[in-house]
Amino acid sequence: MILDIDTKLLKKNAYRVTKQRGITALRIRVPGGDLNIKYFDIIKEVAEKYGNGTVHITTRQGFEIPGIPMEKINEINELISPIIRGLKDEGVQIEDEEGGYPAAGTRNVSSCIGNRVCPFANYDTTALALKIEKLIYPNDYHVKIAVTGCPNDCIKAHMQDIGVIGQVEPIYDPSRCIGCQACVKNCKRRVTGALTFENFKVVRDPNRCIGCGECILKCPTSAWTRGEKYYRIVIMGRTGKKNPRLAQTFIEWANEESVLKIIKNMYDFIDKYIDKTLDKEHVGYIVDREGFKKFKEEVLKDVKLPKKAKVANHIDYAGYRYERNTIYD
Ligand code: SF4
Ligand code: SF4
Ligand code: SF4
Repeated sequence: MILDIDTKLLKKNAYRVTKQRGITALRIRVPGGDLNIKYFDIIKEVAEKYGNGTVHITTRQGFEIPGIPMEKINEINELISPIIRGLKDEGVQIEDEEGGYPAAGTRNVSSCIGNRVCPFANYDTTALALKIEKLIYPNDYHVKIAVTGCPNDCIKAHMQDIGVIGQVEPIYDPSRCIGCQACVKNCKRRVTGALTFENFKVVRDPNRCIGCGECILKCPTSAWTRGEKYYRIVIMGRTGKKNPRLAQTFIEWANEESVLKIIKNMYDFIDKYIDKTLDKEHVGYIVDREGFKKFKEEVLKDVKLPKKAKVANHIDYAGYRYERNTIYD
């Protein structure tokens, strides 16, 4: 049977055009990579009853269920409605819970496991991922966002359009310090070498400190404690065929409020400058065309950054292009 399928609508609904005619695959969003176990039964049912009995775990922490006949889409949308209702209950604006996912352009907001589990985490990554999801979904613009608990960057925030990296200001109490230098040695060996030991005290160089919080974890006497939490925002990293590159630091020592406002403003920027003659345009290429200066002005509109925040004046993306033979000459 040859089906008259609207592929735009299909993709918007989070189904994929596959290499097999008439067969699709459904992507389940899992913001922050955190899914209530009660939804697993639904995923299992879709895979067994409509798919090929397998589930692919995506790189963005979602589930992709392959082998679905396209004519079953409406039935499946009804079946997955509790998962979509779950998003709605969390505050994501969804009008028709039984109509399937309302958009797929803005990808699942992924996150590392964060401070619910990981001792290195500087904040609750899953909670922030959900706040971002509420702010930006549903949306057709092709945007990738990930949040990570500390500069170890397990989620690979550096490969996203927006990557949010947890920071903490370590507070030093010299009266508790026994001078063991465990923090100094660790920072030098594993981080950025921001600590020195001078006149029987530890001195932190704020320009070298990236707020990872390892000194707090290393100190045997709690001479280092957690101060305010902050975020480093890295922007416009990407993979893809044209010009893969790592995201670069845009702002350090931002607070949560400013992170959310900047992300919201970025969507307004896309709306204003996207090339509407194209089927889709990835945000990184819009920034390349319009320039970092314009991007910076637009996304910082009405953003109240903490006093401590530092904003990049320019960004020098290296990345690379697939120019044949240049590296082999
Ligand atoms: S990025 Fe940091 S907080 Fe997140 S899982 Fe890795 S080590 Fe833990
Ligand atoms: S680890 Fe703690 S006690 Fe040891 S030098 Fe650092 S601050 Fe002082
Ligand atoms: S927070 Fe990290 S970078 Fe800063 S002083 Fe401590 S260990 Fe070094």
